[in-house]
Amino acid sequence: MADAIVIGAGLGGLSAAIHLAADGHRIEVLEAAPEAGGKAGTFEIDGVRLDTGPSVLTLPTVLDEVFARAGRRSGDLIDYVVFDPAFRYRFPDGAEVTLHHRVDDTIDAVRDTLGARAGDELASFLDYAAAIWEAAAPSFVYGDAPRWTTLLFGGLETLRAVSKIDPLTTMQRAIDARVHDEHLRAILLRYATYNGSDARRAPATPNCIAHVEIGLGGYGVRGGIHRLVDALVDTATGLGVRFAFDTPVERILTAQGAVRGVASARGEHRADLVVANADAAHVFTSLLPRPRRATEDRSMSGWTALLSTKKRERVAHTVFFPRDYVQEFADVFDAGRPPEEPTVYVCAPRLSAELDPWKDREALFVMVNAPTADHAFDEDEVRAKAMARLEAEGAIEGAEILWSRTPQGLADRFPGTLGALYGAASNGPSAAFSRPPNRDKTLRGLYYASGSAHPGGGMPLALLSGRAAARAAQEDLLCSASA
Ligand SMILES: Cc1cc2nc3c(=O)[nH]c(=O)nc-3n(C[C@H](O)[C@H](O)[C@H](O)COP(=O)(O)OP(=O)(O)OC[C@H]3O[C@@H](n4cnc5c(N)ncnc54)[C@H](O)[C@@H]3O)c2cc1C
Repeated sequence: MADAIVIGAGLGGLSAAIHLAADGHRIEVLEAAPEAGGKAGTFEIDGVRLDTGPSVLTLPTVLDEVFARAGRRSGDLIDYVVFDPAFRYRFPDGAEVTLHHRVDDTIDAVRDTLGARAGDELASFLDYAAAIWEAAAPSFVYGDAPRWTTLLFGGLETLRAVSKIDPLTTMQRAIDARVHDEHLRAILLRYATYNGSDARRAPATPNCIAHVEIGLGGYGVRGGIHRLVDALVDTATGLGVRFAFDTPVERILTAQGAVRGVASARGEHRADLVVANADAAHVFTSLLPRPRRATEDRSMSGWTALLSTKKRERVAHTVFFPRDYVQEFADVFDAGRPPEEPTVYVCAPRLSAELDPWKDREALFVMVNAPTADHAFDEDEVRAKAMARLEAEGAIEGAEILWSRTPQGLADRFPGTLGALYGAASNGPSAAFSRPPNRDKTLRGLYYASGSAHPGGGMPLALLSGRAAARAAQEDLLCSASA
């Protein structure tokens, strides 16, 4: 019998397992897939593993701290890659904007390409975004799940913090009020997609993502993001964590209001603590003995592909914007269809991960935003539009698709998600309060550690979710031991 079972070996599950094992608990991780990583997965070609999920790591100190909890240094396990130029944004009118690793270089580049006013507006927008981050991060990201009661009875200080996080206007309105250049507006609006939300409806609070990526910087991992997953598995194993792959959990076992373990096809696994890294919606609707309703408001999904193409001069990340970027949110969230004229995102692992195994060719990761899998999706059409844009831009030549995944493919691989990339969307001021907290409200011993629980999606937040779930479990254990 393990002290705790973790359902899923995604980033949140690995982080929870490491924190709990570092606290001295015996941990067993049961993973449905044959390998760890979850959305941070891979596809292998010619013996080379290519990432099929995340490509930009922000807030690397969060990862460093997970390794440090196990007494290890991230520098001994992985190498961060600083890509500079970092992002290139291309627009149909021929405009091109380059973002760099250092914020001052980015502001200079925006001044050079979009003019002095745009440069000044970006600088002041980033100050505004940094102020949101500083007010929001301690409680909404690093702290326990926010509650309405804290807000109502938190006093003047809480009210001051809330006014700084700008929750009563939308991302789009806040951007439009501060930025005049259409190109810069599109670049900033796109941060809504970093948690899969609709920039027209999301509160302005996620505007802080611009500060996190442009101000604090994005990183790659040499060899690919999956190296980070390997390092987490190695760290967990070093602490005695046991992994069972190809082991989907079918049910959470309960008795007298508390968890007693889980059941998989291999039998019953007894434990007094269960940490769910699987999507909270999957737990609610399929694993609990008494199913509950899951949120309807999902973050967006996407069509993703890996291509092989002739090597080209490029930067680590390129975004090809459409003529009307706001229309993309209307297509995905209002009409429930893939964008008529999609934004195409391209990541070049040759630069982002310094992975360059082929002589004349290189692999590219491509992504197009899409609605969740409960809407119609014509893969041929989306693929044709994405490839035509990349060819027209000279970004690919003689390209061949090695692998692709539709929203339905994501939904099948990650049960309960409907293919949503980041759990629930942040499409209203109350989103942070409706996200599942890390401790189940009714069942003793059940915790949530994933991008679908507090504090939300994206790699650093999923890792923090694991830490918060482990912290809640440890607090409860100490409480019951002293009772
Ligand atoms: C295409 C794509 C691009 C992305 N880009 C970025 C990016 O650039 N930067 C960034 O920070 N984030 C990005 N993300 C988001 C990031 O990958 C996720 O937020 C994060 O990896 C989610 O981790 P998680 O802890 O929620 O676990 P998940 O990755 O959701 O893994 C959950 C695990 O639980 C397992 N599981 C589910 N049900 C069961 C069951 N019943 N029994 C056993 N196991 C089960 C699954 O198999 C899976 O391994 C991207 C995601 C995708 C898909």
